[in-house]
Amino acid sequence: MNHLRTLLYLLPTVLMLSACSQENGTDEPANVIIFIADGAGLAQWTLAHFANENLAVRQMTVTGLVDTRGSNHEVSGSAPTATALATGVRSVMGAIGVGPDSLPRESVLEVAHRQGWGTGLITTTTITDATPASFATHVPSRTQRLEIFKQMINLPVHVLLGGGSRMIQIIEAQDSLGLESIIRDRYNYVETLTGLKLHSQDSTTSNILGLFSPGEMAMAIRGRSPNLVEMTKAGIDILQRYPKGFFLLVENEGSDTYAHRNLDREVLTAEMLEFDEAVAVGLSFHQQHPETLVVVTSDHETGGITLRGDEERNLILEYATTSHTAALVPLFAIGPGAEKLSGIHRNDEVGRILLDLIDGSSN
Ligand SMILES: [Zn+2]
Repeated sequence: MNHLRTLLYLLPTVLMLSACSQENGTDEPANVIIFIADGAGLAQWTLAHFANENLAVRQMTVTGLVDTRGSNHEVSGSAPTATALATGVRSVMGAIGVGPDSLPRESVLEVAHRQGWGTGLITTTTITDATPASFATHVPSRTQRLEIFKQMINLPVHVLLGGGSRMIQIIEAQDSLGLESIIRDRYNYVETLTGLKLHSQDSTTSNILGLFSPGEMAMAIRGRSPNLVEMTKAGIDILQRYPKGFFLLVENEGSDTYAHRNLDREVLTAEMLEFDEAVAVGLSFHQQHPETLVVVTSDHETGGITLRGDEERNLILEYATTSHTAALVPLFAIGPGAEKLSGIHRNDEVGRILLDLIDGSSN
């Protein structure tokens, strides 16, 4: 009788504990990798799929669509759309990590950082561009590049890989900013693939700043070095050294930039295929570490691409604009919490789901 009473008394506690551990065990990712193909809508993915029917994204179990509008407009841009995905708040054109009121909003990367995770930003354009910037910094205008860079290295984001070495020359020329010593103290700085590989293989490296071209990096079709696949591999190698987990954002900017320029099918296809190969690197990490959430999406569509037929029903790529469009963009996900991203979501809802998943994993 006494035993029964004790058992009943303890029951709520036991149930609570088991609910908690189940939550930690099944729903909350230990690592999060987000891939963004800037400007890529369904037409861009169609080009990639026609070129390779074994795209890595086909391994992803969850598919969704994202509504990319901003707080006061329907056809958006990379700054507010990345801000919505990163912070769960829709904002105005140009806004980086701030709401329509210009006040800072905490990002998924910052929540991860606060929990002691390793953090990384990788892009094929300058590292201070709108998408990576929105995940780690807070400024009212995307043009404030030096301020963005300063905030990134002050956090610090542990892995920063992309273009923008011109900034280092500016910083060296006018070091009133005091950034040169911060970089020297906090980062291993590299400008080549060889340097990057050296650090990805050196188990003592936990911080890296790699800027591989003065501005944006070369086109995929011309062979950029390092390419997005090599940068993603190195980024994961280094961030794996953080025992509490890591958050990594990987962006390909080419799918946006070359659609703005209305370039041809081959150029866009090459960008999408290299991007998908980078996703494959994330997915193979997920296979070894299933507690990793991998999400692939876009910030918005660029070009209003139409894949119409000619008289012989061959595909003709046509652009409706040199700017962005309001079309929903695809999302793919796999790993703990992925099913929450299934179906149609607003971009800020995607951000809030990611924030919940990452914040929850500290409990
Ligand atoms: Zn754009």
